[in-house]
Amino acid sequence: MLTVLQRIVEAVNQAPDLDSALALIVQKARAALGSDVCSVYLADHDAQQFILMATEGLNLDENDRVTLAFGEGLISLAAQREEPLNIANASEHPNFKLIESVGEEAYRAMLVAPIIHQRKVLGVLAAQQRNARAFSAEEEAFVVTLAAQLATVIAHAEARGLVSGHYSPWLRNLTGLPGAPGVAIGEAFIGKPAATLSSVVPRRTEFPWREIHKFRKAVLQTRMELRTLADQVAEHVAEDTLAIFDVYQSLLDASSLGDAVENKIKDGWMAQTAVKMAVEDFVSKFEDLDDSYLRERAVDVRDLGQRILSFLQDKNGNKPNFPDSCILIAEEVTASMLAGVPRNKLQGLVSLQGSANSHAAIMARSMGIPAVFGVSQVPLGYLADQHLIVDGYSGEIFVNPPQQLMHEYEILRSEEFELAEMVADHREDEACTLDGIAVSLQINAGMNVEHDQQRLGHYEGIGLYRTEIPFMMRERFPTEAEQYDLYRPVLESTGQLPVVMRTLDVGGDKPLPYFPIHEDNPFLGWRGIRMTLDHPEIFLVQVRAMLRANIGLDNLQILLPMITTLDEVDESIRLINQAYFEVRNELLQSQPGAVVSRPKIGVMIEVPALLYQLEAVAKKVDFFSVGTNDLTQYLLAVDRNNSRVAGLYDSFHPAMLHALQFIVDRCRELNKPVSICGEMAGDPGGALILVAMGYRSLSMSTHNLDKTRWILRHLDSEIMQTLLSKVMQCTHPDQVRRIVRLKLEALGLGGFVRAGK
Ligand code: PEP
Ligand code: MG
Repeated sequence: MLTVLQRIVEAVNQAPDLDSALALIVQKARAALGSDVCSVYLADHDAQQFILMATEGLNLDENDRVTLAFGEGLISLAAQREEPLNIANASEHPNFKLIESVGEEAYRAMLVAPIIHQRKVLGVLAAQQRNARAFSAEEEAFVVTLAAQLATVIAHAEARGLVSGHYSPWLRNLTGLPGAPGVAIGEAFIGKPAATLSSVVPRRTEFPWREIHKFRKAVLQTRMELRTLADQVAEHVAEDTLAIFDVYQSLLDASSLGDAVENKIKDGWMAQTAVKMAVEDFVSKFEDLDDSYLRERAVDVRDLGQRILSFLQDKNGNKPNFPDSCILIAEEVTASMLAGVPRNKLQGLVSLQGSANSHAAIMARSMGIPAVFGVSQVPLGYLADQHLIVDGYSGEIFVNPPQQLMHEYEILRSEEFELAEMVADHREDEACTLDGIAVSLQINAGMNVEHDQQRLGHYEGIGLYRTEIPFMMRERFPTEAEQYDLYRPVLESTGQLPVVMRTLDVGGDKPLPYFPIHEDNPFLGWRGIRMTLDHPEIFLVQVRAMLRANIGLDNLQILLPMITTLDEVDESIRLINQAYFEVRNELLQSQPGAVVSRPKIGVMIEVPALLYQLEAVAKKVDFFSVGTNDLTQYLLAVDRNNSRVAGLYDSFHPAMLHALQFIVDRCRELNKPVSICGEMAGDPGGALILVAMGYRSLSMSTHNLDKTRWILRHLDSEIMQTLLSKVMQCTHPDQVRRIVRLKLEALGLGGFVRAGK
């Protein structure tokens, strides 16, 4: 049975459109079951009816349109109950409704299984027999399994049908993951790499030095091209985002990809082959990683490899003809592909693969370009030259939308522009509420070394510097001197403002390419402080580098990730003290009288166990910082990177809200500063709830700074307290979201959570 099922699913998967897919399903399922009839009905939720889309056995002419209203017949009953019906004599069932026009009267036994995709009933699969006999338990199980497997296939095939002009009964748009907020309208332009690694046929050479020369020339050309691309976008993105191009440049360095390629050439491979081999090696290492941020780096390496290849193949000459309102679409949009489209033409982007963690997504947010990622329902070719609306808030893409919808979105888009201008005009204002409650807004950093303070406006420091990001771009742990070079500019970049540097938070879900860790449950494994305390040599070197970088600046604070026990706090402090005395003594030897200050030490609250140890920990540290990303993951027991349970992962879950309220209340009693550095701080509704709870320090990605500041300036204690008492009574995250959205709408701030102003 399993192979029959697999064969059906494979065949249907390859069908070119919805009609052929459905025709194949009914034909193959009827043969496998040996039944007289097999049909597929799809639900049209707008018209509240089922449409008989394909049948093998009933008399359905090409031009016939057979429908059943919702609520009618056994088809509706199975869909409504969301379970199969197996009835020996269907005509005797009170819900039976005969469809005469297709000759249904000849059949008595009926087996109906609902087709459900992501909790939504897409339709039903129905088998019928002349004889009045119940289908066997095996037959029933087969139809149920087939319906479950076909749900995704049907959803995808339907989406393809939509694009090719097929009437779509229930879906008028494609959906992906929101990557950058905003609304874009334009013409799809398919971005393709100038050369592809997969097309390189491996070839050997007798003259490695000649090949090395060719390779080095191509690297130089690639470097120049990247510099031009970086210049092209420089005026549109924050400087931290431009660091993406530094990452590209450093990958080209001899010690990184360059070395790997030259070694392959020395082994006798031609330059093109060596590039292919080395890049594919790198890519597979990155792709094997569990952490979604690190996995996304595979895209950058592949992009870089294909750029070098295009120079080796002399294919870099022709400049594409971009439409005036260009929506860039690619299998995998890369940062450099994005930079290659003139800014005055680029309206939006859609990447069939990838996520909000990709460099392209980070750049799109920084450039204010609406973006949607992970649109897996449709092959690329179907979208070429189509007119699209891209809604970066909801992740929806409308393909060839009707005029009226287009018009509505045009209005929403112009309202967006007004909103963005208004918010940016108030960049220098302090973040404080209408009744004078000041909130310290800081930024999360990690990828960037510098950031453009002009663009940031008023902010109060770096609330979270994730040190693991620079660690991952190397082939070994960075030395103390290398780390000093990384940290010093970060500490200098804020002037006097504090910088909270977190000690290495790798291991488990964020392994380094050069330090693989294999665990069954990586999120519950050897992560963060657990790993670095087991390797004091790594921890001490890092802390020493931080302390040395802080000499003369004194704005460093050290943050410890993933703390679960008091012992971990004690041991970390012991090691920090050791590093401190070492650095101080060394400095005193070379500069008598010099001062090395001991930084404040804080602990991240991300493991729920810490909630019940706040008092004990508070006695040992200077501050707390709540990592809402991990706290949500651990409190709700939901893997934050697993798309299957993504629906459960929600920081607005009532349990999370009560935990957050508990933390801020307890910290106030203990007189211990507490801030928030997870994504929730930069979410418009999240910031509102957190400030209402009593948090006065929020750290967020730079792109959320302006709008959070603006929102806070439109709130007062009364509004916040009323809202808070309502949300704390909610029993479901959706209720919380709805209440917050309505409140933001009522305050004229709805444009921060949906399209429009
Ligand atoms: C968090 O968990 O909320 C956090 C800020 O840390 P990270 O996202 O780096 O795990
Ligand atoms: Mg965390």
